[in-house]
Amino acid sequence: MLTPSAISNILESPEVRQWGTVPLDGFIGPAHVSTIIGSRPYEFFAEEYRKPVVIAGFEPLDVMQAILMLVKQVNEGRAVVENEFSRAVTRDGNLKAQNLVAEVFELRRQFEWRGLNVVPYSGLRIRKGFAEFDAEKRFPVEYVSVADNKACECGAILRGVKKPQDCKLFGTVCTPENPVGSCMVSSEGACAAHYTYGRYKDFQ
Ligand code: SF4
Repeated sequence: MLTPSAISNILESPEVRQWGTVPLDGFIGPAHVSTIIGSRPYEFFAEEYRKPVVIAGFEPLDVMQAILMLVKQVNEGRAVVENEFSRAVTRDGNLKAQNLVAEVFELRRQFEWRGLNVVPYSGLRIRKGFAEFDAEKRFPVEYVSVADNKACECGAILRGVKKPQDCKLFGTVCTPENPVGSCMVSSEGACAAHYTYGRYKDFQ
């Protein structure tokens, strides 16, 4: 998913924009995406929505430092883009990679994502000139939309308005061994991470 459109979708979601306010303090910018797109695309969110953004690397110390940088911005009333992962991310990103992506891929008008539903201009598809490498063109597999389980709160969790432990299925019906929703599928999903590292604190 294209990160700027994911952030826009979250910030413009009616669940998040309660009475015109956005109850999110800021964003941690993803390391891998930002090495390609750079830090510049996040400047819009810092300016337009007054939300601080700190791009973080992958190591635990990177994430902790990025959170500290975010907390400092919030405490000082600042909302700018800061780059904790300066050893790999520049403001303009990797221009060579950006040009190659633009050569091979084009924007889709819309795409359906688990948890977020249909988001306009949020994904890419392979251009006609490279159709021989496009599995969607080569194999006659029909697209079938599969609705999320009604009890799954992934959409609200992805938007930061609910926590994994607010879901009735968390840790009982839904576990990393038997994931019901997308947030439990991979180890970096919010529900899987809370199941592995955070749920013990819920009972303290
Ligand atoms: S615990 Fe499972 S069902 Fe509940 S929100 Fe998370 S992924 Fe969805």
